[in-house]
Amino acid sequence: MTLDPWIAKAAVIASSIAMVVIRAPHGQRSRSVKVAKSGKGPLEVALLTVAWLGFFVPLVWVATRLLAFADYPLRPGPFAAGIACLAAGLWFLHRSHADLGTNWSITLEVREQHQLVTHGIYRRIRHPMYLAFFLYSLGQALALPNWVAGPSYLAAFGLLFALRLGPEERMMREQFGADYDAYAARTSRLIPGVW
Ligand code: SAH
Repeated sequence: MTLDPWIAKAAVIASSIAMVVIRAPHGQRSRSVKVAKSGKGPLEVALLTVAWLGFFVPLVWVATRLLAFADYPLRPGPFAAGIACLAAGLWFLHRSHADLGTNWSITLEVREQHQLVTHGIYRRIRHPMYLAFFLYSLGQALALPNWVAGPSYLAAFGLLFALRLGPEERMMREQFGADYDAYAARTSRLIPGVW
């Protein structure tokens, strides 16, 4: 049994809108909080650009026939698993934004009066927002029946994650010293008790 690809297109549109709706108020608010220390070098600019492209490619697949050469039939199993991952990713995104509050930045930055957040969803893992993006982009890879557009955000975000995690944890350690060491010692990066 195969599904009509339009259902995947509807899922891409709905989840992209949900992502923007969840993030927009935080993006707006973060512009009003002064940056005390910026780690936004050329690597960060390149990674953010790649991440935006990765987010954009599925929308190209929805709106045009440019990527039709890489289409494959949509099956209910992967589609359902993909929707579950997308929903979980959006929930983690909402929770992590709520808990980080004004300490959030889209890039590597320390804000004025930056506080180390260790409560809520940050209590057991240090990178719930990155977990959110992994779940979300894995969801797209499963639910979107195209070999290019499906995994594009997963590849882009995977690169950002791999190259940013080290610098981000170093920046937090420089800023919060022993507090961050203690926090890191009692938490995992993405999956409690695993990593
Ligand atoms: N890696 C985190 C946050 C991503 S947003 C996550 O996946 O949930 C990136 C910004 O969040 C960084 O620039 C840093 O300033 C800030 N940040 C990361 N962890 C933080 C924490 N525990 N408390 C406060 N700010 C944090």
